Amino acid sequence: MANTRAYAASSPTSGLAPYSFDRRELRPDDVAIEIDYCGVCHSDLHTVENDWGGSQYPVVPGHEIIGRVTAVGQDVTRYQPGDLVGVGCMVDSCRTCSACDSGLEQYCIEGSTMTYGSLDRHDGTVTHGGYSEKIVVSDRFVVRVPENLDPASAAPLLCAGITTYSPLKHFKVGKGHKVGVLGMGGLGHMGVKLAKAMGAEVTIFTRSESKVAEAKKQGADHVIISTDKAQMKAAADSFDFLLDTIPVAHDLNPYLKCLKYDGTHILVGLLTPVEPALQAGLLVTKRRVVAGSLIGGMPETQEMLDFCAEHNITCDVEMLDIRNINEAYERLKKSDVKYRFVIDMDTLKQG
Ligand code: NDP
Repeated sequence: MANTRAYAASSPTSGLAPYSFDRRELRPDDVAIEIDYCGVCHSDLHTVENDWGGSQYPVVPGHEIIGRVTAVGQDVTRYQPGDLVGVGCMVDSCRTCSACDSGLEQYCIEGSTMTYGSLDRHDGTVTHGGYSEKIVVSDRFVVRVPENLDPASAAPLLCAGITTYSPLKHFKVGKGHKVGVLGMGGLGHMGVKLAKAMGAEVTIFTRSESKVAEAKKQGADHVIISTDKAQMKAAADSFDFLLDTIPVAHDLNPYLKCLKYDGTHILVGLLTPVEPALQAGLLVTKRRVVAGSLIGGMPETQEMLDFCAEHNITCDVEMLDIRNINEAYERLKKSDVKYRFVIDMDTLKQG
């Protein structure tokens, strides 16, 4: 067992503090990884504060993990010590259901094992994530990080990247499509870059005037200030897809009006009930669709990393000393991040 330094929350209101625990011995299919960087996703904050219920404390968050392999189990052939690898939101699944068979482990019928806050399928311990020095993960849930990507700014691809890439691919977004991305945070700014690289015309919907110039720098063709009724009205019936990354309940109806007939509103940010209620008439009268999407499967995560390497896409990041994680969470709550905090894990090793 390898003792691992980490940061953990002990209750919804405790904030994060230094913590240590033992990582398991290598199983035959395991890869041991020394973590260099870990992104800070809004889901980490939701879990720490128990916004979705069921958080298991202590919570060691972190599912945007990049590091180097230090050891492999006896059955592992794909990785060897020294390889640059990543781990995202999942570390296991049943591996036998139709979803797992199709490489869609995120939709495992038994429920996939998440990187933190899940029960390990073999020993029943609670999984701990990437705000830690090391992690041990089955090779099926490890991906290879192309060496031409800067590892610190590639770390958020493991969640923010795949969560936006997967629905864009699934709905076959490409040239000739008009895509709106709702919310310019960690996921949203990746949605802009990826939809643009896929050939779409991209508009960002933001509440923040201050983000307009940067949205354009990141490739957005247009920006709509979502709180400006006139701008929202002018956008009526014009989008094929809306990719909604807003992390809290919000009124979908004004956005639905912006979809063309047959347009699709894809929810990725919201996991709680939609409030206020959906106006069904907005769907029925234009055959509009509201859909949801969860991260992405393992083959697709590798495909996304290779796509990003080919198109030279990484995240805009602010490097973070882990000792400042609680301040970082406060800024995340205010949408004051450009556009993803990434923890430099050396700062954990420094104490
Ligand atoms: P961020 O906090 O980085 O970004 C969210 C953005 O949404 C903000 O920057 C802001 O953009 C906008 N926003 C925030 N609050 C409001 C509000 N009250 N009303 C309208 N807009 C708002 O979060 P992430 O990008 O990390 O995550 C977004 C959501 O996606 C989270 O809920 C997260 O848990 C979820 N998620 C879902 C996954 C999935 O598989 N479906 C995977 C990973 C995360 P602006 O200032 O431009 O308005």
